[in-house]
Amino acid sequence: MDAFQLNNIEITLDKKGANRYTKTSYPVRYGRCCEIKTAEYLFGYNLSGEIKTIRGLNSDWPHPAEWLKRTDANDWVFYSVGRYHRLFSFLGEYYLPCLSYPSNPLWEYNPFADLSVQKALAASLRLAAELRPMRANGLARGISEFLDRILRHDPYTLGQKAERLHQIIGGPISVLPPDTRHADYEVIPLMVADGCLYHCDFCCVKSRRSFQRRSEANIRRQIRRLKTFYGGNLGNYNAVFLGNHDALAAGWDLIGMTAVEAYDAFDFGKSHIKNPALFLFGSVDSLLKVGDKLFEALNPLPFYTYINVGLESADAATLAQINKPIGLNKIKDAFQKMLDVNRRYLNIEMTANFLLGDRLAPDHYAALIELIRSYLDRFYSKGAIYLSPLKTSRNRAALLRRFVEIKNRSRLPTYLYLIQRL
Ligand code: SF4
Repeated sequence: MDAFQLNNIEITLDKKGANRYTKTSYPVRYGRCCEIKTAEYLFGYNLSGEIKTIRGLNSDWPHPAEWLKRTDANDWVFYSVGRYHRLFSFLGEYYLPCLSYPSNPLWEYNPFADLSVQKALAASLRLAAELRPMRANGLARGISEFLDRILRHDPYTLGQKAERLHQIIGGPISVLPPDTRHADYEVIPLMVADGCLYHCDFCCVKSRRSFQRRSEANIRRQIRRLKTFYGGNLGNYNAVFLGNHDALAAGWDLIGMTAVEAYDAFDFGKSHIKNPALFLFGSVDSLLKVGDKLFEALNPLPFYTYINVGLESADAATLAQINKPIGLNKIKDAFQKMLDVNRRYLNIEMTANFLLGDRLAPDHYAALIELIRSYLDRFYSKGAIYLSPLKTSRNRAALLRRFVEIKNRSRLPTYLYLIQRL
């Protein structure tokens, strides 16, 4: 790590952050980064020179442990820790991710309307103008190269880069699996299939396409292009999201091939962050159809694999109400299979989503509680249940109370699912 003082700005190159994802209530940098500290802000940059984080150091900043993070889709997320109590029991994290676009939160807070947050974002834009003349002052090579990299990544270029990412994979990701929180949502997206098997009425993230696997050639082309896309910052990733809404339906051979080739191509063995992870979504039918071959193929890989399945409800009337074209028996069989997989495979964790909404019938909640109690003889820590608030919900306080009631009765870890895109 090298630190330089330029006028009133402190620049730190190649700062080593944490080498594994942890659950903390304070800002943690993961992998390697570069920082610029001014009197008022701490700006973090990735190894490509793209702005990644901002933390206010002034007295206006909402809370000393809160920060902003920019995603690869060029969205800003505000990590709020100072406003709400017991966040961990709701989210499994010590922070509330406040998004700069509409989603399904159960909290009202919009930090992007806060003047101090707006000033911080504006300061990151002004900083480039302050840095530009400094390059002429006979700087050491490392630092002038770092400043060049930052100056190349102006807001227009960052927007273009997000578009380029979406071009490579075939479009934006409307929702990431809830389990990607374990990698701070820092995943490389890689599409193995498009569309989904169902087109449920309630779903706000579905694509119009019917389900279709990508070809091996398409996947290999994505891998090659993604490797170039992430370039010098690739070492700061250790996780892949195999998309899109039902990658599990792509079959064990395509999933296995993609996981193995992605691990090698992205050089995860040398990542700055340990414990590589693989994330994918599955549907009820794809889970029931997939044989042991998939789990036998994934379990020995160097990844810890999370498979998240949308079960939505264990109540037949609710399934009909939301137009989920699946019988109750299949939901129960899929839930049982999820429990079996979690017990049999050390490196695979299946999790399930259910709906939370103020227009859902009491039977939906009664059936859910019955399912997540009667199928288990005690509490198990593996295999979370995520409750996804419907966007149509109005009474957020009542939903939070409903969530607590379910969580208290659940024999699996139970959290809220806040939709994040990429
Ligand atoms: S909930 Fe899942 S299966 Fe249903 S439409 Fe949405 S993405 Fe497709």
